[in-house]
Amino acid sequence: MSSKIHTRKAVIVGAGRVGSHAALCLMFQHLVNEIVFLDVNPAAAAAQAGDLNDLASGLGDNFVIRVGDYSDCKDAHFVILTAGRSRRPGETRLQMLDGTIKILEGIVGPIRDSGFHGILISVSNPCDVVTEYLYRNLGLPRSQVFGTGTLLDSARLRRALSEIIGVNSKQIQAICMGEHGDSSFIPTSHISVQGIDLREYLSLTHRNVSSLDFDDIMKRVRESGSSIVLGKGCTEFGIGSIVASIVLAVLHNEKIVVPLSAHLDGEYGESGICAGVPCVLGAQGIEQVLEIDLSYDERKAMRKSCGIIRENVEKAMPTAKEA
Ligand code: NAD
Repeated sequence: MSSKIHTRKAVIVGAGRVGSHAALCLMFQHLVNEIVFLDVNPAAAAAQAGDLNDLASGLGDNFVIRVGDYSDCKDAHFVILTAGRSRRPGETRLQMLDGTIKILEGIVGPIRDSGFHGILISVSNPCDVVTEYLYRNLGLPRSQVFGTGTLLDSARLRRALSEIIGVNSKQIQAICMGEHGDSSFIPTSHISVQGIDLREYLSLTHRNVSSLDFDDIMKRVRESGSSIVLGKGCTEFGIGSIVASIVLAVLHNEKIVVPLSAHLDGEYGESGICAGVPCVLGAQGIEQVLEIDLSYDERKAMRKSCGIIRENVEKAMPTAKEA
């Protein structure tokens, strides 16, 4: 990445529920000082900017929040892609594919042509397919184009485990992998509590790992998104905070290990798709894709999930060759 970047500038494409909540989280954490909204509906984007400017005044902070155009991507440190529409009750993320790809066709060229060379955080669903589309079309390295993937699912997983085993979710290390969608899975052999393997932790607390029903926990994780959509028509707060945590890790060069939707280049025996895998995240974006040891069943689950992503990548880009 060149130095001609405004390190505190974020362009948010899609000034809807997720875009505005991502902006809100960035502002509350003072991560950026310039937010530019791009939206097919500039009046709605201007209204979001106006509302957030009121928030900035209320906080007594000096943020620039405005509507711009694609030339704003040129010197932005972050482009956050949240364009699309909210998921409908009962709809899978994959069912949103056709609509999202149509939208992306009009977005990806202008971002690329602006000379953007910062970090693109892809949120729109289906997240892994969208991220692969962006990776193939933006001409940037995979370290700079990645999706939130299973990061939100992983936060939901830690919350579920916290409720079940009675430990603060901050002290639980557990992730979901694969598709940000119905085929995600939990690599249960990698769950620990403050560094203590889950099995050992449970035996120390007089319980047995077999008392945990991971199929049910995975179902709970998957259904928590759907039930929020059913209740309020979208999810927005959780994903807003996830976007801010990524921006924080990059700006502070945190080098944290988090699951992100990353372009795979042979890792886990997969290529030509993006999927949720643990990555080292720092100033350069994804600094390493980690290939962790998976059990036989976990490898099977990974293969199945990646197969579903691949099928949809091929549907979205039937003639495109991988960059
Ligand atoms: P929304 O309808 O509230 O907002 C979407 C915005 O995109 C609207 O303002 C719309 O005008 C804009 N838009 C549409 N076409 C556009 C285009 N061509 N150029 C620029 N802007 C365009 O929807 P939302 O609830 O904010 O959801 C946005 C996306 O985020 C969806 O794809 C949703 O599924 C996804 N999402 C992902 C996660 C995740 O974990 N990855 C979580 C929640 C939502």
